[in-house]
Amino acid sequence: MSVPKGRRAVLAGMLALVGAGAAGARPAPGGAGDLWPGATAVVWGERSLVAGHRVPLAVLRDLAARADRACRTVGEVWGPVRAVVLFPATDAEAAALAGAAATGGLAALATADRVIVLPAGYARLSPLGRDVVIAHELTHVATGATRGGRVPMWLSEGFADYVGYRGTGVAAGVAAAELAREVRAGVLPARLPGPADFAPGAPRAAQAYEEAWLACRYVAERFGERALVRLYGSDVGSVLGLSRERFTAAWRDHLRRELG
Ligand SMILES: [Zn+2]
Repeated sequence: MSVPKGRRAVLAGMLALVGAGAAGARPAPGGAGDLWPGATAVVWGERSLVAGHRVPLAVLRDLAARADRACRTVGEVWGPVRAVVLFPATDAEAAALAGAAATGGLAALATADRVIVLPAGYARLSPLGRDVVIAHELTHVATGATRGGRVPMWLSEGFADYVGYRGTGVAAGVAAAELAREVRAGVLPARLPGPADFAPGAPRAAQAYEEAWLACRYVAERFGERALVRLYGSDVGSVLGLSRERFTAAWRDHLRRELG
């Protein structure tokens, strides 16, 4: 990472400019110039811009380094991306920026063109966990997430975790500990997880993410990473030559092998 030009600034449209360059997308809600007037600290990474509200510069610099790494990983898998990351002072501020109702337990979330950190959840993460989360959310920004429901949620969430964990060397049984406990007890999921399974507060939300991650990792290992990328916006029949039933059966075998 280059030496960031850390400075305090009223953003005066800078974020909107960078945001537009990053994702070709829309301006920040209410205009970026309204972001914490007079109290916004900005740090530039090589490929990222991080803006914080009452966050120490050292924390923002650390986040910019993580965002730069995430940009490189997303770039290797999906394509070029630049990161605009906002680090608000509180979770309530983050939720308001994102227009999100429930953020319980999350460490960050993505809008169409930026990543927003949730301070309480982010503070609880290990350094590796922070890298995974930033890369996960940046993947959502790069791919357009579910594209208005045209991409199934197991694929959008699983793909984001695939990119997030890519190259970390974290074992499946560690990253998918909750699911591993079920599989070792002889319980395998019957079907790929759907939107209700991922809802904040859903009883098996952790397992839903783990199931989705391992479905995508299976596709990358068995058919290649390019096939996984092609699958995004297509379907398992045309990309993998498998019926939905055969794909589900192969994924369940994969779970048994990886976690059993
Ligand atoms: Zn996600």
